[in-house]
Order: sequence, then structure tokens, then C-alpha cells
Amino acid sequence: MMIVIAGGGMSGLSLAGHLSRWPVTVVDDGHADLEGLAWASWSDRPGLLDAAVSRTFDRVRVHAGGRTWVLDLGCYRYRVVLGPDLARVVRVVRVVRELAPGCRYRRGHVDLVEDGRIVVDGEAFPARWVFDSVGGPLPDPDGRLAFLGWHVRTDRPAFDPDVPTLFDFRTRQLGASFVYVLPVDPHHALVEHTSFTSGPVDDTARREALREYLDDVIGTDGHVVEREESADLPLISRPAPRRRGNVLAIGARGGLVKASTGYSYQRVQRDSAAIARSLRRHGHPFDLRPPPTRFRLYDGALLDVVAAEPARLEQAFAALFRHATAEPALRFLDERTSLIDEVRLFATMPAAAYLSAVRRRLSRATG
Ligand SMILES: Cc1cc2nc3c(=O)[nH]c(=O)nc-3n(C[C@H](O)[C@H](O)[C@H](O)COP(=O)(O)OP(=O)(O)OC[C@H]3O[C@@H](n4cnc5c(N)ncnc54)[C@H](O)[C@@H]3O)c2cc1C
Repeated sequence: MMIVIAGGGMSGLSLAGHLSRWPVTVVDDGHADLEGLAWASWSDRPGLLDAAVSRTFDRVRVHAGGRTWVLDLGCYRYRVVLGPDLARVVRVVRVVRELAPGCRYRRGHVDLVEDGRIVVDGEAFPARWVFDSVGGPLPDPDGRLAFLGWHVRTDRPAFDPDVPTLFDFRTRQLGASFVYVLPVDPHHALVEHTSFTSGPVDDTARREALREYLDDVIGTDGHVVEREESADLPLISRPAPRRRGNVLAIGARGGLVKASTGYSYQRVQRDSAAIARSLRRHGHPFDLRPPPTRFRLYDGALLDVVAAEPARLEQAFAALFRHATAEPALRFLDERTSLIDEVRLFATMPAAAYLSAVRRRLSRATG
């Protein structure tokens, strides 16, 4: 069976690891350099590619509604995977698990993906299944997550290396904004200004916000920016059209970036495992069983409410993370809660704003 994975980024590599019993060809044109990439995520269970995790945290800091909490993660762990480690572990997993049936990495630009064939650098190849992380249609975004991050070095030991900051709202609100801090050691961290927005965000204002945060909130007493990165992630709450004949969209193209958080690493791991299971059981990759649709409704409603009133984001995050550990919030964001859990979680949120956003979405969906 000829399996081609279009794009060897996070989802393409993850799937290549999970499809270790089949020969696959991964095609990537190299425009996203794995070297500088890293994905953080939370998980409460072992996964096939866990050897790629380079850092694990059991607590996080959050600051919202005028309060700072350091929260235990309960049965979750917050983890970081670096791009080169993911690539290395996928190779090892394929060798160890299935005696390395061919996995070819081909450098090339995917021009076209169609039912039954893929065109790379102008040349067409037949394919039984194509997993596509580079092309295909995407629904209009409901919003955007804009981030500008600095990898900084500080003069004094300013960061707690054991506790990342998931969100800290003590920053300029350019849209609905918070700062995320991923420490490396007491002198080094990634400090990221993150905004839920529907329009462009001014770079000068974001740099100013990061400077203020480092000087006034963290109090670094001097820092050097070693590298800057920025990205603008479309947030899509509607399901993406994943299947086109024998082509299945994966990763961001498959709608796996969660619209209320911008995270997709763990969703992609679960999706890759489900694709492998479906191929094994049925000989096709389409038996995927997505989570209940209400979770997409919640994501969309949050984005609608925050677009109208950006200050609601801080309220919502403060309400979600108000428990003794971060576990209930993370389980909800993982889409593993029951309706009763959700009623409890939402209890302190202003119900009217969210209910009318949900009603508007439902009435649009039904015509
Ligand atoms: C800056 C940034 C930080 C993020 N951080 C996190 C995080 O910490 N945790 C998390 O869960 N999510 C994160 N995300 C969201 C999401 O998980 C990532 O975007 C993730 O990389 C998506 O995986 P993917 O495989 O869909 O896309 P990518 O990882 O971008 O892979 C696509 C691959 O396709 C290749 N390619 C593109 N076009 C072509 C073409 N025409 N022909 C051949 N090759 C092509 C590229 O070179 C790339 O390697 C982040 C997103 C961004 C933008």
C-alpha cells in the first residue's frame, strides 16, 4: 500500500511514527525549519512518542482577576517537545516497533494533492492514501491567535525553572492579551505576548508590552533578547472538511488546532493513533470518532464573546482555573468532561453572554 504524508512538520512526523507497520513517504519542502520549533502540551497518559519529551512540569502559574496561583496539575503533566527530538524519536520508533519497513523522507514541494495521486515538484505519483498537512480548503477563521515571543537572557536569576506561566493578564490588552512564560533555567525563558484578536496586532506595541512585562512584572533588572519569533494562528471552531476521496487532511489543515487555546499537539497524537487503528481494523483511515460537537460550540462561543468584549477572556480563564488543581480545566480543554462537569466549571461565568453566543451559533447552523 502506498502511503504519502504531505508535510513533515508536527502532524506529518507524528503520523509517520504511528504508522510504523506501513511503508510511508513523507514529502516536505523544508520551508518550516524543525530546528527552531517546539510544542508544549499537557497529557495525563503515556503516548507512543513520549521519548521526544525534553521537559516535564507538574505545576503551572496563572495570573487572572488580580490573583496569582501556582497550581498543581493533578494527573496531568505539562511537557515540551522540540522539533529535532520529534524527528529522531519517529525514526527510532519505526525501527524498534516494526523492523523499519521503508519510511522515505523526500525533499520536495507538494504542488497538488488529489484523490489517488500527489504532485511533487511537477511530477505526479500514485498513492493509495494521502495524509495532507499542507493544502486543501479551510473554513473561514472565527478569530486569530497572534503571538510575539522573545527568547530572553536575564542578568539576575528571574525565572522559576520549574513552573511555566500559562497566562498572566498583567499586560497591555491588544485584543484579549496575556503573557506566557516557558522557563529554561533561572536566566533564560521564552516570554510570549499572546492575543486573541480579529485584526492585525501592532508589533511595536507588543514589543513595548514585553519590555514592560520583563521590567515591571518580572523585574529582570536587565535582559537581552536572543531571538524573536512571531506567528498568527487562524482559530477555527467549525470542523474542517477532512476527507477528499482517499485524501485525509491532518494537523492544522485537519482542524486539529483547538480554537480556544491554539494547542494541537495532543490532539494530533490522538488523531494519529486513531488513523493507525482504523487502517489496521478496516483497511481505511476514516474511522476517527471526533469528540462531541458541543466542544466546538463552546470554543466558538468563547471566541464570539471575547471578540465583542475582550475582557471576558480573563474572566473565563480565571473561572476555569479556580479549582485546587488545574486538572478540571485541563480535562475540559482536552474535551474529556461530562455535561455535569461542564455545568460545574461554567458556574461562575456570566451565563447570559455565553448562552446568547451559543444560541446565535446554533441558529446560524440550522439556517
Ligand atoms: C509559532 C507557533 C507555535 C505553536 N506552539 C504550539 C505549542 O506549543 N503547542 C501546541 O500544541 N501547538 C502549538 N502550535 C499550533 C500547532 O500545533 C502547530 O502549528 C503545529 O506545528 C501544526 O502542525 P502541522 O503538521 O499541521 O503543521 P506544521 O508543523 O507547520 O507542518 C507543515 C509542514 O509542511 C511543510 N510544507 C508546507 N507547505 C508545503 C508544500 N507545499 N510542500 C511541501 N511541504 C510543505 C512545512 O515545511 C512543514 O514542515 C503553534 C503554532 C505556531 C504557529
